[in-house]
Amino acid sequence: MNRFVYLLEEAQGLDRDTLGGKGFGLVEMRRAGLPVPPALVVTTEACRAYLREGHLPEGLWEEVKTKVRALEALSGKAFGGGAGGRPPLLVSVRSGAPVSMPGMMDTILNLGLNLEGVEALARATGNPRFAWDTFRRLIQMYGEVVLGVEGQAFEALLEEVKARRGVSDAGLAPEELEEVAFRSLRLLEERGLVFPMDPWAQLRGAVEAVFRSWNNPRARVYRRIYGIPEDLGTAVVIQAMVFGNLGEDSGTGVGFTRNPATGEKGLYGEYLQNAQGEDVVAGLRTPEPLERLRGFAPRLYQELEATAALLERHFREMQDFEFTVERGRLYLLQTRSGKRTAQAAVRIAVEMAEEGLITKEEAVLRVDPNALPALLRPAVNPDAAPRPLIRGLPASPGAAVGRAVFSNEMAERYASQGVPVILVRPETTPEDITGMYLSQGILTARGGLTSHAAVVARGLGVPAVVGAEGLRVEKDRAWIGEKEIQEGELLTIDGSTGAVYLGEVPLLEGAGMEILDRLLAWAEPYRTLGVRANADTPEEAQRARAFGAEGIGLCRTEHMFFKEERLPWVRKLLFGTPEEEDEALERLFQYQKEDFKGILRAMDGLPVTVRLLDAPLHEFLPPVASPAGEDQEAMAEEGRGRDLKEVNPMLGFRGIRLLLLRPKVFQMQLRALLEAAQALKGEGLDPRPEVMLPLVSDPKEVERAKDMAQALFAEFFPIPFGTMIETPRAALLAEKIAPLVDFFSFGTNDLTQMTFGLSRDDAGKFLPRYLEERLLSSDPTETLDLEGVGRLVRLAAEEGRRANPGLKLGLCGEHGGEARSVLFGSAFLDYTSASLYRLLTARLAAAQAGLRRVRA
Ligand code: PEP
Ligand code: MG
Repeated sequence: MNRFVYLLEEAQGLDRDTLGGKGFGLVEMRRAGLPVPPALVVTTEACRAYLREGHLPEGLWEEVKTKVRALEALSGKAFGGGAGGRPPLLVSVRSGAPVSMPGMMDTILNLGLNLEGVEALARATGNPRFAWDTFRRLIQMYGEVVLGVEGQAFEALLEEVKARRGVSDAGLAPEELEEVAFRSLRLLEERGLVFPMDPWAQLRGAVEAVFRSWNNPRARVYRRIYGIPEDLGTAVVIQAMVFGNLGEDSGTGVGFTRNPATGEKGLYGEYLQNAQGEDVVAGLRTPEPLERLRGFAPRLYQELEATAALLERHFREMQDFEFTVERGRLYLLQTRSGKRTAQAAVRIAVEMAEEGLITKEEAVLRVDPNALPALLRPAVNPDAAPRPLIRGLPASPGAAVGRAVFSNEMAERYASQGVPVILVRPETTPEDITGMYLSQGILTARGGLTSHAAVVARGLGVPAVVGAEGLRVEKDRAWIGEKEIQEGELLTIDGSTGAVYLGEVPLLEGAGMEILDRLLAWAEPYRTLGVRANADTPEEAQRARAFGAEGIGLCRTEHMFFKEERLPWVRKLLFGTPEEEDEALERLFQYQKEDFKGILRAMDGLPVTVRLLDAPLHEFLPPVASPAGEDQEAMAEEGRGRDLKEVNPMLGFRGIRLLLLRPKVFQMQLRALLEAAQALKGEGLDPRPEVMLPLVSDPKEVERAKDMAQALFAEFFPIPFGTMIETPRAALLAEKIAPLVDFFSFGTNDLTQMTFGLSRDDAGKFLPRYLEERLLSSDPTETLDLEGVGRLVRLAAEEGRRANPGLKLGLCGEHGGEARSVLFGSAFLDYTSASLYRLLTARLAAAQAGLRRVRA
């Protein structure tokens, strides 16, 4: 009659989607012969039904009751008190979604206790202090999670009693803990709330609260950030409690089978003696490294090492496990595949393959290509760095510079203005997720390497330093020793070393590539899609080549003008008088020719696609008070300026439109490119320039541009001539455009803008809400919208190729460096072109696509 509820021993063969990650891990650990306290799992299906119907689905509660009876038999204890002389069975009620969402949903521990139960527990353990402490914790957790009372109200009671006695937690006597328990009950009463003394009512309330917590605000934010589907639901694990707070020979800890920050092989983690599980994850007390157990509990350490090895063999993956030691006996409470930094992900995959735990192909498929940009993250330059102000634990690698903020609200305020921030907190809790997401770096005063701050920062790929001693954080300021840190003050943190600096410290760009090269060496033979770079300067071209770019797919020539000394000339060119225009053309010609030489030199022997000017005019208007003394108002009122004033510049006089109506600009750019190439040929090099038209929407535009190019091709030499496909009309007319060109390059930024009819400049104002409301499943400016924009791309590719079988096809929008979009394109494109930091993503994603095809 199992429908919604399974004992661990009954659940073998059910999948993670049904059991949730936690339930699944427990079932597997039990199967592997590891010590797991008896438990039952309420499936995700029950949660979905609950959320749909607003009440527990029919029959569920009866099933829970039956299975709890089975837990009693398995544990030799009695739920709901000490009847018949059996000690009371206490249970934990935990959430567990199919996808790990650490700390985002609710958990209640010590459930099943009431006034008679406390006495029975005191007798059974011979420890009344422990019994009352357990009861007090239950009332508080139940009050918070099920009844919605703020935690501080309970903490305040505890603090008051501690202050009266002048002792710490550990110094409180049983009677005092009893007093805290009763006052906690009264606190609830005063608010018109009731703590149920019937353990079954407690259990029912807790199960429903866990179901409901699927939809609490922080869980929703987390799902949005990680693109987790809204309709998975959470399972609930009800498990016999074991206690890590029964004395010195008890404790609780978290272990990783390999180091989650670096990937280094070996047991790694933290342990807190005489404590209950949540204390570690919440970062409330700073635990000790597991390593220390070697000295004072060598047998336990060995047992943990053996456990780690067994877990890796069983799961064939790095595991993050939670355990409790009750009076010297080890119990495993959870295992999941461990969150890790990009560095660690690569190292673990490579080394596991080298150890024979997984195959090389599995290693290649295991690394998320979208995580690789983090590998190139900067580090503090040791030669240029001053002495750090303080040090904490290096929790998530990479260095970051930003303005100190102390809350989500402050982070939002700065981030909305594009100002980088460092979130500084005493410790983080799941409530801080918004601020953490918006920050360039995270700094906390308390917590260890497995604290909430550390785990979440690694998941987000945000550098973090945690547990920085000497840091004191208040609501709107912090102190480092005597030095006060105010909101907005510049800080630098290095999450690879734990160092914290005042002010901005010089950074070095990404090292740590050696291990990735090993992975890419296994991956690249499967790659059939070419990978080029979006690069606009000789320096970028050089770096792109070092990251494995096989040419440049997009050189945005207007970006070459984004330099202080060049901008006034562009403005003169666009908005000035005819004389000013001619002078500007000459200047800009010289700049461009030099740049083209540098770029072609850096990419010697490889194709370089130069896109002619595509400057949305508003980006080039001077600021109202320009340092060069130009005046926007004046420019916009006089001559050409007036004619060029646009309400909607993104859809205005840009790209091919400007090039055809201002042929001098076209001629200048193409001449600069051809002269640069000719000069390099003269040096015996092998430059391979290509020229590309922006924003085309009609074949006649291409014909006209081709006519204009002919004279220059005749004077120098012809080069491949192509067009971007970035307006929906161009995609729809691909068949007519294709015979006129050598290549198409899909500009999916504009194509997305125009297909959706959403402005690239303004979409940020409402897209996040759209994602939140689930009106879109992913951000189309980030991941290519396969259904709509992708369909246009495919159509243009197919019809273009049919009309011109020799047509080369590329993609150069930002999507060219995003894994899912690359996977899509790899089936029919010749190459993708990615911005510098996304080149590795493009290479690995394309290789994975090839490997998957081979396997299929
Ligand atoms: C595009 O539109 O996708 C593109 C690559 O061009 P840009 O981003 O310069 O408009
Ligand atoms: Mg474009």
